[in-house]
Amino acid sequence: MKHPYLNEDHEIFRKSLRKFLDKVAYPFYEQWEEDRMIPRSFWKKMGEHGFLCPDIDEEYGGSEVDWGFAVVINEELERVGSGLIGIGLHNDIVVPYITAYGTEKQKQRWLPKCVTGEIITAIAMTEPGTGSDLANIKTTAKLDGDHYIVNGQKTFITNGIQSDLIVVAVKTDLNVVPKHKGVSLLVIERDAPGFSRGRKLNKVGLHCQDTAELIFEDCRVPKENLLGEEGKGFLYLMEKLQQERLLVAIGAQTASEVMLKMTMDYVKSREAFGKPISQFQNTQFKIVEMATDIEMGRVFLDQLIAEHIEGKNVVTKVSMAKWKLTDIAKKIAAECMQLHGGYGYMEEYEIARRFRDIPVSSIYAGTNEIMKTIIAKNLGL
Ligand SMILES: Cc1cc2nc3c(=O)[nH]c(=O)nc-3n(C[C@H](O)[C@H](O)[C@H](O)COP(=O)(O)OP(=O)(O)OC[C@H]3O[C@@H](n4cnc5c(N)ncnc54)[C@H](O)[C@@H]3O)c2cc1C
Repeated sequence: MKHPYLNEDHEIFRKSLRKFLDKVAYPFYEQWEEDRMIPRSFWKKMGEHGFLCPDIDEEYGGSEVDWGFAVVINEELERVGSGLIGIGLHNDIVVPYITAYGTEKQKQRWLPKCVTGEIITAIAMTEPGTGSDLANIKTTAKLDGDHYIVNGQKTFITNGIQSDLIVVAVKTDLNVVPKHKGVSLLVIERDAPGFSRGRKLNKVGLHCQDTAELIFEDCRVPKENLLGEEGKGFLYLMEKLQQERLLVAIGAQTASEVMLKMTMDYVKSREAFGKPISQFQNTQFKIVEMATDIEMGRVFLDQLIAEHIEGKNVVTKVSMAKWKLTDIAKKIAAECMQLHGGYGYMEEYEIARRFRDIPVSSIYAGTNEIMKTIIAKNLGL
């Protein structure tokens, strides 16, 4: 399929990335799933080959390429497995906060290591008591001389255990009305006194992906680690959520395409009642329905990516893509598993893992219900 925002350079890049992943990711992926962790050495290899944050400026170690390369990276990682989402989160969700709102000093200090993989990043918004209602977070940061004193807890944090640098949403003002104006973003580093990791969380799927709790107890964070301005954190988060949600939509679409392909291969090779199961009308109709959803989803998504790359505000359409494409992917996972029969329920078959991994895409980066509230509001309802 031809993407309007990709040219020959992107396709050459895709080929070399796919070759790299075929060698250093695919053969080890099942082991990483069992280990419940992707080794740091994989991050380093990604960095060495220029697959981490290639869009950032050359002076910080990047290659200054357009975001089409990011799309290629995220699609290729998803082809291997959804558990690699933490790398996309680093490249296209967390690091962009530093490039957009960081001071020159912060950029010089952190960005080069984000490109090499020496620094793994995370973003911590969600708390045990609040996820969707972000303005209601309870983690506080109080200024004390040259430091902020941070107290609170975060949960469900992607890259939580391995992260070296975390963009943390905190409340710097508890009294301001409206409440969201009290939210600020602080960059908390691995060795900050008073910062510890809680449990590494046991998830239904995404087994190799590191998700954890973070604990801040009188954690001392240098004042200069404030990202942007105090009180503007909520605004920054809203500005960056378009790309985060687009990323989830890209992952879901790619997963659907992968699942359909593996199921088509399977139904052609499996026989029942003396013929391939692909010859049954039910199988054909199911495949046709999925292929139609996938084709239509791809056209919408490609147009959206192109508009996002052009710098357009496509929040409403991205929210539509996020809920719709993740919803479709969940249905496709269930249909594809069914068409695999009993083997679909066996861990040896990739569809079983895909079926476990996909449901979270309608939950994280803002639940699909929250997407619908955004769309409704923007439709003027
Ligand atoms: C694997 C994984 C990785 C994650 N990674 C990160 C991360 O890196 N950083 C981070 O900060 N967070 C992360 N999250 C958290 C994720 O973003 C939240 O779980 C999500 O935003 C929902 O918040 P919640 O779990 O508190 O659910 P709640 O907000 O409690 O929602 C529960 C239910 O109520 C519904 N609901 C809530 N409000 C409304 C409303 N106004 N209208 C209609 N329905 C509503 C929701 O849609 C949902 O169905 C991750 C979560 C998971 C599972």
